[in-house]
Amino acid sequence: MQIPKYGTKIKDFLLNILFPIKCLGCKVNDEILCDNCVNKIQLNERETTENITALFDYRDSLIKKAIWELKYHHKKYLGERLGQLLYDSLIENISDLRIEVPNRTIYILPVPISNRKTKTRGYNQSLAIAKGFCKQAPPGIFEIKNKIVVRKIDTEPQAKITNKKRRLKNIQGVFGIKNEEEVKGRTIIIIDDVTTTGGTIGEIMKVLKKAKAKNVFGFTVAH
Ligand SMILES: [Zn+2]
Repeated sequence: MQIPKYGTKIKDFLLNILFPIKCLGCKVNDEILCDNCVNKIQLNERETTENITALFDYRDSLIKKAIWELKYHHKKYLGERLGQLLYDSLIENISDLRIEVPNRTIYILPVPISNRKTKTRGYNQSLAIAKGFCKQAPPGIFEIKNKIVVRKIDTEPQAKITNKKRRLKNIQGVFGIKNEEEVKGRTIIIIDDVTTTGGTIGEIMKVLKKAKAKNVFGFTVAH
């Protein structure tokens, strides 16, 4: 039997009755992460890898908590909120980054997670963020492309590896492109929750560039 499409929405609705939404920071009702709390989150000022822009400083306890809840406590809706914030703050960078707005849509590519993680988590947190990002944008500019890059190998989670060189090595050759034609000449923004050494996004950039993508950027919620 197939689960009806609206199944998730009913589930969310019931969950909201049982566990009403409160701001993760100040507990105010009906807000996922209120503007007041968001304005207090430390912005990222540390340097990131080239062409990767991160919004918040991961050492900030509230953003750390938000990403933790999104990844490990099934709070998918936090992804949407974080995506919204990412759009609002980083859209200004689009002009700095000199992304030529092409007459074709800009592809939004959430970093694919391993099948094992999709199974245990039930969703890809980067896709949840990407959806929030695109929802906030005017229609017709961005398009989520969830399937152009595939994870060929399930690796050891990057977060478990502390050594930078090992992290980079762990991710090498992990990603592949399904259809190179689709990527050719395109402007693509890769979206992820956190970037540390820039290894994962860097590796995806590499395969996209190899397939002749025109411009590739990385946007992450935290660094
Ligand atoms: Zn708050």
